[in-house]
Amino acid sequence: MSPKAQPTAVEGFNGLGLSPSLLATLASLGYEEPTPIQREAIPPLLAGRDLLGQAETGTGKTAAFALPLLERIHRERTVDDDSRRARALILVPTRELAMQVAEAVHKYGHAAFGTCVVPVYGGQAIQQQLRALRRGVDVLVATPGRALDHIRRRSIDLSDTRFVVLDEADEMLDMGFAEDLEAILDALPKERQTALLSATIAPRVASIAERHLNDPVRVKIHREKTATGEVPRVRQTAYVVSREHKLTALGRVLDIEDPASAIIFCRTRGEVDQLSESLSAHGYRAAALHGGLTQEQRDRVMRRFREGTVELLIATDVAARGLDIENVSHVVNYDVPMSPDAYVHRIGRTGRAGRAGAAITFAEPRERRYLRNIEQLTKQTINTESVPTIVDLRARKLEMTRAALQELLVAGDLDGYRVVAETLGEEYDVMDVATAAIKLAHEARSGAGARDSDDVEIPEVGVPRADVSGGRIKPKGKRERGSPGARKEHRGDVTRLYIGLGRSSGVRPGDIVGAIANEAGVSPKGIGSIDITDKFAIVEVQEDEAKSIIAALRGTTLRGKKVTVREDRGVRGS
Ligand code: AMP
Repeated sequence: MSPKAQPTAVEGFNGLGLSPSLLATLASLGYEEPTPIQREAIPPLLAGRDLLGQAETGTGKTAAFALPLLERIHRERTVDDDSRRARALILVPTRELAMQVAEAVHKYGHAAFGTCVVPVYGGQAIQQQLRALRRGVDVLVATPGRALDHIRRRSIDLSDTRFVVLDEADEMLDMGFAEDLEAILDALPKERQTALLSATIAPRVASIAERHLNDPVRVKIHREKTATGEVPRVRQTAYVVSREHKLTALGRVLDIEDPASAIIFCRTRGEVDQLSESLSAHGYRAAALHGGLTQEQRDRVMRRFREGTVELLIATDVAARGLDIENVSHVVNYDVPMSPDAYVHRIGRTGRAGRAGAAITFAEPRERRYLRNIEQLTKQTINTESVPTIVDLRARKLEMTRAALQELLVAGDLDGYRVVAETLGEEYDVMDVATAAIKLAHEARSGAGARDSDDVEIPEVGVPRADVSGGRIKPKGKRERGSPGARKEHRGDVTRLYIGLGRSSGVRPGDIVGAIANEAGVSPKGIGSIDITDKFAIVEVQEDEAKSIIAALRGTTLRGKKVTVREDRGVRGS
């Protein structure tokens, strides 16, 4: 059956010659369209050609070689026996990559063809690997040193190996694996298909290709496409957070940035759906846009976005392409885009026609290098910043209240309320009256917007670079001493302490002031603002007293509980 006859298949992968079951797997993974390297590499690899590919991580290169390899193993098996001797060997430089690639091959091949993949790498007990190998393997993913070990022990049988991939060949050479690679390639059957992928085709890589590839198709994911001039001049920021904290981090950033309109990009349909549901559940006006929607549904979403009923459009690249969207205030990459080109394309939606724009990217720690790739190719800096803390958020909300009040003062038209101010002013200090009114207004404004994500502490994984501290998002305007959100750099003599107990343990500001004053013998005057969340509290203290306060509180209890106290790293990023 022709793959095109498969109705559930992903449209964008249809023409490449993959079988219906693989197309169904890709559809279930939410891949909507092949990436450039996939489009160029899959057809020749399926046709049996050798390949010399120049592509970096994050371009989708794993699927580019894994999909055709799985397909060919499967095709050959139907006419062959079903013995489980390694049909394919994928060589990679590191243990991490071995695990990642094995996981990807399993993800693509197991459901479609029942493919069995085993990773072997240095550092893992060899006995464990021997057991896995004895159970049988279709695809072996290995670091060169360990692969050679197994070949010498005869614990892997490569006599049936027809497909070989050298992934990140330049890295393998840089790591000193040149001789091992030669030895392995010489030990393999001559009748085979070989693919070599490398970020750079340095002379040493070219020389391996020359000797071990047979008339290869050359594929290069061009760097030149990204001309510097095409990159819009928008504020570009990245937050490095682990996957589990991404949603909370996104919520905080959205609250601080308060975008008028934003497109949030995800890689797959599944992620789009999940994220738009989570954001809607947290009170954001979000809607999903992806290739799985009917034209009518898409039109409705777009209409609501244009009217402003929806502020956040969560979309895949494909769905967003060709959309008639004038300009958005923010583009958010919930994942690092697949290529620098995709990044440039995405962020081109903001900062149009000289307007201000912001491009915000969330990266997991292992994706940091993709960010560096993008920076190199766009020749622009992406400032890595700390995720805003709860204290930052409070400061931001106060700032928004202040701005709203200022707007009101400028507009005038307050006569109907003056009488209340005057009568209260006879009894109380006018400054106190104003402060109470601000509190009331602030609570009315931000109370409804409080979200449960506010209470989670996000560990800092993205250490900001020294050169970007000036780029941190800071609420503008003067801050009073002791006001929440006042930063250490503005105060000189103040630091913040993290106290690992909060409201849910019954802790109140008075408990903290009492403990600090009594246990550390510090005057309450030296204590600044205290922010208490359900799980922890942040308190400002004089920097020269911080150490003795930490020592004193560690030796005591708050509300009958032992307490963790340390300097608050979450707000000391710069
Ligand atoms: P790689 O460059 O192979 O490390 O792939 C980077 C990431 O992109 C992996 O998380 C893949 O699962 C994902 N990916 C690969 N191809 C596609 C595609 N066509 N559409 C969406 N995501 C993809």
